Amino acid sequence: MNIHEYQAKDLLAKAGIAVPAGYPAMSVEEAVAAARKLPGPLWVVKSQIHAGGRGKGKFKELPPEARGGVRLARSLEEVEANAREMLGNTLVTVQTGETGKQVNRLYVTDGVDIAREYYLALLVDRATGRIAMVVSTEGGMSIEDVAHDTPEKITTLTIDPAQGFQPHHGRAVAYALKLDGAVNKAAQKLSRQLYDAFVALDCSMLEINPLVETAPDSSGSGRMLVLDAKVSFDSNAEFRHPELESLRDESEEDPMEVEAGKHDLAYIKLDGNIGCMVNGAGLAMATMDIIKLNGAFPANFCDVGGGASKEKVTAAFKIILSDPAVEGILVNIFGGIMRCDTIAEGIIAAAREVDLKVPLVVRLEGTNVEQGKAILAGSGLAIVPANDLGDAARKIVAEVKKAA
Ligand code: GDP
Ligand code: MG
Repeated sequence: MNIHEYQAKDLLAKAGIAVPAGYPAMSVEEAVAAARKLPGPLWVVKSQIHAGGRGKGKFKELPPEARGGVRLARSLEEVEANAREMLGNTLVTVQTGETGKQVNRLYVTDGVDIAREYYLALLVDRATGRIAMVVSTEGGMSIEDVAHDTPEKITTLTIDPAQGFQPHHGRAVAYALKLDGAVNKAAQKLSRQLYDAFVALDCSMLEINPLVETAPDSSGSGRMLVLDAKVSFDSNAEFRHPELESLRDESEEDPMEVEAGKHDLAYIKLDGNIGCMVNGAGLAMATMDIIKLNGAFPANFCDVGGGASKEKVTAAFKIILSDPAVEGILVNIFGGIMRCDTIAEGIIAAAREVDLKVPLVVRLEGTNVEQGKAILAGSGLAIVPANDLGDAARKIVAEVKKAA
């Protein structure tokens, strides 16, 4: 699950991490009220969408020379004018795809006088089985470009979860960022706090871009501040965090994935035209692979699970078919816990209920497979039976071509 920047910063602030003050706003009036609560004379009005690259993004409804989704404002009037221009409009960034995302929430923050921008991210590194902390002096810009053009400017540390964050990790971060004096100390403390927050919240990713050093104040030194924060939680640990559930913004999620979640289906939308309904994640991956091998692309990953009921199969059919890109469906089910005859009955009932108009290829294997096939054959529906995985993939690809 992903959350908005203002929610992420709120969580970080609660963990004692330094972030600029700010308030979310759902309307122009709220944006102005938020700005009034802040000291000024500089404010930042930030579009809240679940995607990065907002600053360089463009609004579909505004002329191309209009400013992006993160704007500095120097008066309350400017805050108001910027909020008016952003709210309700569609922001297109490198991460949203060309359809963009509608901006329904803003975050109005204290404007910060930035001396330097850095990058810091935490993620689960499956290769080492550790948490990786990735830091760079090249903050504020696309880290993908930095990794591509100047990989030597990126430092990655891995932290053994059993040992936790050690003082030497903090020193390594401050060294990699080439910091001296007070900001060096601040970076050591901040990196530990971020690691601790990452673990406590069961994050799968926490990206601070930019982490900034502010211009020196009267003490002669700047401060280290989290200026942008992107957080994803590990969905397998969601049960441990009922307090985070209210942060979910379903309008930011794929509506089909939200619907699938309600039926306890693992569904992920993909770009192809062949809808897949499979039981078991491994079989689902194999099915997607073999569709590709036959020159087509899966429209989704859909795992109905080991004990799929008729209701679940029907729900999965409906979700797969609600994707206008789907031109054919491949059902590939192994009857282990579930018997194939029960699955066949479920498929027929679902196909009738949703008034299936696209080709349907079904491959069943396992317990009571012969009965299952007989039920499908006797259904009177235009179901194409398949004998094995390769046969099934070839048939659905051919059927979709024929129908086109
Ligand atoms: P993103 O474009 O979605 O990554 O949004 P960010 O929150 O990272 O903002 C984009 C850029 O806006 C930052 O890299 C900064 O350069 C600039 N920015 C954001 N907040 C401030 C601020 O308080 N003061 C100044 N001077 N610039 C800011
Ligand atoms: Mg950013």
